[in-house]
Amino acid sequence: MNAATQFAALPKVELHCHIEGTMRADTVADLARQHSIDLPTSDVRSLYGYENLTGFLEVFWLVQSMLVTPDDWERLAYESVIDGAEHGLVYREAFCTPSRHLLDGQRLDEIVAALDRGCARAESETGTRCRLIFDIDREFGPEVALAHVTELAALRRSGASGADRVIGLGMDSTEIGIDPTTFAESYALAADVGLRRTAHQGENSPATTIAAAIDVLGCTRIDHGISVFEDSELVARLVDEQLPFTVCPNANVLINPDVCPQLDAHVFPRMRDAGLLATLNTDDPALVGLDLTQEYELCAAAFGYSVDDMVDIALDGVSGSWLDASDAASVSASIMAVAASIPSAT
Ligand SMILES: [Zn+2]
Repeated sequence: MNAATQFAALPKVELHCHIEGTMRADTVADLARQHSIDLPTSDVRSLYGYENLTGFLEVFWLVQSMLVTPDDWERLAYESVIDGAEHGLVYREAFCTPSRHLLDGQRLDEIVAALDRGCARAESETGTRCRLIFDIDREFGPEVALAHVTELAALRRSGASGADRVIGLGMDSTEIGIDPTTFAESYALAADVGLRRTAHQGENSPATTIAAAIDVLGCTRIDHGISVFEDSELVARLVDEQLPFTVCPNANVLINPDVCPQLDAHVFPRMRDAGLLATLNTDDPALVGLDLTQEYELCAAAFGYSVDDMVDIALDGVSGSWLDASDAASVSASIMAVAASIPSAT
């Protein structure tokens, strides 16, 4: 069995994946036609090319702009789970970042209900489960964030359709020059309605912002977090606490080459060697042109990991998830059962 077959067969979970970043290029083209949106190129596959984070965000925003109606959101969620399941995904906690859409007049209750319908349809076809993390787009500032989290809290409290699929609050987009603690009110409200908390920090921001997200915002997980080694005391503490990091090595190299110029120099193995609970994820599989199986293959090759090492990484994905104990045990058991049948995995 070659590495690709081994890692494709291995059940995998993903904790850092933006649902908008899973949109198929063909779907971008189709929705652009439906909504009479001009694309910058007639070759839709060449859309997913960029040289740095700024260029990536322009493409990300273009993809987001295709989501005009609830049917578009439903289709996105459905195709996202279907495509993940093809590569051994069994469970995902996916970000959705509808700030722009809400500011444009779309309704959060309709977006959440539509995402829920799409996920549910794909779940029934594949068995792969997907739950959602509402991501604040930092670009629009704390007041807009609080307005949107207040709407989300109201949906949770009223038991609105699909609201129970949203299990967490996160924060993405621009990190540079933004103090995460300015979003504290949104995070406090999220805690009040039982949402788990995470934040993108430490991709383009110092270790102090990672500590702030944990200590001030109450985050129990950090997305990226690759600047953590700036603070050895913080590393020691987070090893001790086993706070999960959702790391996306290939996306870092593709989107952020100034910080991560090449995969084999990425800090992911250093994080694991230090004892941090560093999990492996794609970030934006369609936009970075790889799936979760390829992420496993490329990282195994770049970091010299054995199949057993990759099984450990898959199991750590479960440990870092927000599954309850019995669901986590069941997913872990399925990973171990498949691992036992893979040559050289024990
Ligand atoms: Zn991300």
